[in-house]
Amino acid sequence: MNYETFFKAELDSLRDAGNYRVFADIERKRGSFPKATKHGDGPDEVTVWCSNDYLGMGQSAHVLKAMHEALDSCGAGAGGTRNISGTNHHHVLLERELADLHGKEAALLFTSGYVSNWAALGTLAARLPNCVVLSDACNHASMIEGIRHSRAERQIFRHNDPEHLDRLLSAIDPDRPKLVAFESVYSMDGDIGPIREIIEVSEKHGAMTYLDEVHGVGLYGPRGGGVAEREGLMDRITVIEGTLGKAFGVMGGYIAASSALCDFVRSFASGFIFTTALPPAVAAGACASVKHLKASEMERARHQDRVARVRQRLDLAGIPHMPNDSHIIPVMVGDPHKCKMISDWLMENHGIYVQPINYPTVPLGTERLRITPSPVHSDEDIDRLIDALSEIWSHCALARTAVAA
Ligand code: PMP
Repeated sequence: MNYETFFKAELDSLRDAGNYRVFADIERKRGSFPKATKHGDGPDEVTVWCSNDYLGMGQSAHVLKAMHEALDSCGAGAGGTRNISGTNHHHVLLERELADLHGKEAALLFTSGYVSNWAALGTLAARLPNCVVLSDACNHASMIEGIRHSRAERQIFRHNDPEHLDRLLSAIDPDRPKLVAFESVYSMDGDIGPIREIIEVSEKHGAMTYLDEVHGVGLYGPRGGGVAEREGLMDRITVIEGTLGKAFGVMGGYIAASSALCDFVRSFASGFIFTTALPPAVAAGACASVKHLKASEMERARHQDRVARVRQRLDLAGIPHMPNDSHIIPVMVGDPHKCKMISDWLMENHGIYVQPINYPTVPLGTERLRITPSPVHSDEDIDRLIDALSEIWSHCALARTAVAA
């Protein structure tokens, strides 16, 4: 086989389908987010509208100070896996902080949210004897891969459908261990799962619950514990999983659960055991961010205000966006080539950076621009975004929604 020819042909077919990913080469600048320097062709400065640093905490003075101090005192890397010399005191402090955030006995850190899902779900499903995993149809790739890797039986329940979950659970031998995996805020549609109903059905059937709060932590609940905190449900969920790389602005992932469960995953998950621990400065920065957002409501309030303003302006301009109750605004295009073209045009002509979201991240025909406002987007930034979208919508004769009188 000619390997190079194979690779190139595969990439060409991705390009033909409009699904080839091009990364914008940008440089975030301390203190100036959402502006960033752009390298390569086109404008030198862009306004970022698609970051998952939802609250701008990646630029927060508290976070940067904590990272600088830890870097100066501990050096660069952790120096090993958690098991072999890599457990730094900053990891221990962060795990305590996360357990407290979710009202759980313990928490366990991983190098990313992806790894935490893959390793924790995979380990629980593989090691609970004869376990059945019930997985929401729209779960993130990291959960799907973890479940697949476990080789446990997997049943998919219809997205956000507790009745379907109930029917599936009713048909499973009551003595088998069962694990229900779902999300709070779904990343691409921004819809919020019926957490209470899923918990009730799971409790009825004696199933454990595993909630991915990656797009909820920091953003919802009085202390940023996520949607489950807002709804007073954290104590009824067996495992809460989150990331430190989105609203907390740094990097890393975690689970929060009982001491026994965390110890079990710590002791058996290869994705935890056999990899270098997060750099201490990263753990210190994440810890400062979690602490800050526990105490401060300001960022969350301003975030919600910005989200509402963008939605309202989109409505006035008749730009179609998917309604939901979260901070994620999917502006629907419905064609991969157009989606990429619009994204390129926004960047080249207006210095507005919104990455096109195409298959397989979203189903074919639902291609979109996923807009994520942050507390640091100004009214002028919003005006410029809406004017530019309006212009390209007219230029391409794209359908508009009815504008309320
Ligand atoms: N879960 C969900 C629902 C996600 O959207 C993502 C990342 N996009 C992850 C987990 C992985 O988190 P991380 O980026 O920290 O690896």
